[in-house]
Amino acid sequence: MFGIRVLLYLVGIALVIWILVRLAKGPRIQQKPTPRVGTMVRCARCGTHVPANEALQRDQRYYCCRAHRDEDA
Ligand SMILES: [Zn+2]
Repeated sequence: MFGIRVLLYLVGIALVIWILVRLAKGPRIQQKPTPRVGTMVRCARCGTHVPANEALQRDQRYYCCRAHRDEDA
């Protein structure tokens, strides 16, 4: 019976897809530490305000870029 074989084949494919979808959805709940949006810090060198998550920090001070961090000894 050709029809039943095709049907089983399609069911098999559907099952594999279903499993793959479940695997893809399941354990991939990656919880990033939500960056505090709106928290701005001031560059200790030039005074530019930069988002805290993008700022470079050193000794309780924030900098807008690496150059300013290195310049401000
Ligand atoms: Zn700066």
